[in-house]
Amino acid sequence: MDRPARYAEIEQLKNELLGSLSHEMRTPLATIKAYASTLRSNPDALAGERDEYLATIERQADRLARFVDDLLLLGRVDAQHLLARRVNVTVDYLLDAAQERLGGAATARIERHATHVQLDGDPELLADALMHLVDNALKFSAPQTHVRIEARAEGKRVAVAVHDRGIGILPEHLPYIFERFYRVERNLAAPASGSGLGLAIAREIVQAHGGTLQVESVPQQGSTFTMAFPMREGA
Ligand code: ADP
Repeated sequence: MDRPARYAEIEQLKNELLGSLSHEMRTPLATIKAYASTLRSNPDALAGERDEYLATIERQADRLARFVDDLLLLGRVDAQHLLARRVNVTVDYLLDAAQERLGGAATARIERHATHVQLDGDPELLADALMHLVDNALKFSAPQTHVRIEARAEGKRVAVAVHDRGIGILPEHLPYIFERFYRVERNLAAPASGSGLGLAIAREIVQAHGGTLQVESVPQQGSTFTMAFPMREGA
């Protein structure tokens, strides 16, 4: 591609990205503003109402903070500053870190299989990738179902699969779900709606470790996201 065409393409990508960013941030900001204004114009609101409004403001602020964290991480990914560390860790260690970030409610639903298996990489980044996969598995399945994390050492590769029995993904969406900001459910008010960055981040992290991230899914039955990494030298 010649240089002017390349610049025009970069310019267009930049505009699309800025458009998506403003859109993502406007929704929680509008909610925060509306709830704060309502609280201010109703100083005598009942304690229950006040608590509910404040909780909503807090939730939306958390959502914005998570979004900014995701963006900063994507910035690091793009600048290829990723593999600062390569440490030998167990999948259990990564899962503990991921669960800590997801909070207590997640723990009860997670089943571990052979997660003593070890792999090599940056523990923080790998825990982040796993956290996004587990978060999705929990979000897109019923609360009474389990999410199974299964590790396997096979030949020269280590695979870590995150399996849920949730809503699944229609085949026509599968080619796009790893793209930044892509969401199957566009309803921003839906409780499951996130930034649409989780899978993009997870895939970048896995690829930066020389691995692959793949999905198999059956609508209404569930999905399995599998990260596969090359086995460390001499292991
Ligand atoms: P989000 O922040 O919306 O979860 P992701 O990039 O993590 O963004 O995922 C993109 C989209 O892929 C989700 O909005 C959802 O539609 C779909 N998806 C991801 N994981 C699952 C899953 N385990 N089950 C069903 N759909 C999923």
